[in-house]
Amino acid sequence: MNNTKAYAAASATSPVARTTIPRRDPNKRDVEIEILFTGICHSDLHSVRNEWSEFSPTVYPIVPGHEIVGRVTSVGSAVTNFKPGDVAAVGCMVDSDRTCVQCQAGFEQFCQNMTLTFNSVDNHLGGVTFGGYSESIVVDEHFVLRIPSNLDLAGAAPLLCAGITTYSPLRHWGVTKGKKVGVVGLGGLGHMGVKLAHAFGAHVVVFTTSPNKKEDALRLGADEVVVSRDTGEMGKHAGSFDFILDTVSAEHDINAYLNLLARDGNITLVGAPPKPLGVSAFALIGGRRSLSGSNIGGIAETQEMLDFCGEHNITADVEVIPIQKINEAYERLLKSDVKYRFAIDMASLKSE
Ligand code: NAP
Ligand code: ZN
Repeated sequence: MNNTKAYAAASATSPVARTTIPRRDPNKRDVEIEILFTGICHSDLHSVRNEWSEFSPTVYPIVPGHEIVGRVTSVGSAVTNFKPGDVAAVGCMVDSDRTCVQCQAGFEQFCQNMTLTFNSVDNHLGGVTFGGYSESIVVDEHFVLRIPSNLDLAGAAPLLCAGITTYSPLRHWGVTKGKKVGVVGLGGLGHMGVKLAHAFGAHVVVFTTSPNKKEDALRLGADEVVVSRDTGEMGKHAGSFDFILDTVSAEHDINAYLNLLARDGNITLVGAPPKPLGVSAFALIGGRRSLSGSNIGGIAETQEMLDFCGEHNITADVEVIPIQKINEAYERLLKSDVKYRFAIDMASLKSE
């Protein structure tokens, strides 16, 4: 076992602060990674503050972080895909049972025995898993991903959650050229949704509560931008969308978007507001519309997404911060004041 530097929250009201955590010695199928960059997902903040207590209560101390890019420092004897010195990445999952119908079908994210990167039972050391706000991590090679060599590493880190979480539903719902697609919320997930839907050839409309993001949305690949608080602007799009991806992290009116769907249109929630959303039956039944959800993506699909991003030169727009600014970054995230993902430069932890 190794002790490694990390940042953790001790309670729902504590700041994220310096600590030390254990990491296991690599087993024969394990890859040991020195972490270079970790993206900050809104899920980190929901978890630190125990906002999902009803569905997945937080065990403290919590070390968040599931958008991890680093360099391999050692590998177990049975590892075939990685060697020391390779760039490697880890997303939201670090293990699953590999035998259930979900795992067999490549949907590890729906495995009942899946281990999340943080705040899951740690089957090796006991306690809970610790995420990427740390110097290093040890992960079974099946859950370690490859980053295409042309991509900037800080910008690639958010692909591991924000990238796959938007890629998977866009693919599942057949977003291609000729489709009218909405993306609600221009944050970490939203801006990746815009880039990917644009790369798939769709006509992309961004819905934002922040009028000052209009120009950015167009630069990121949107064809149109709607300020969602303007009911007149919203009304112009009634009944016209094939698909809408909802990335909003807080309470909002889902019916306003259901009414924008065409016949048989679908809206998929990837945002995970802590409180239930009120759904109007009438918004659904008029037009045989559907509402669904999506959770990250499987390992094979995550690698497919990374390769797609490599081919199309897609990374997240990141603001790189030292880990010492983490609590400030959370406050800014809550105010939608980031363009469009924070990435922590882990050299700042190493030198502490
Ligand atoms: P984020 O960067 O904070 O983006 C969320 C965006 O939602 C904001 O930028 C803002 O966009 C909009 N928004 C925020 N508060 C709002 C409000 N009260 N009303 C309307 N719009 C509001 O967060 P993120 O990291 O992209 O994560 C988004 C959500 O997805 C979180 O709940 C997160 O936990 C969840 N998530 C789910 C999965 C999954 O697998 N399903 C994976 C990762 C994250 P505008 O300024 O443009 O309005
Ligand atoms: Zn995430």
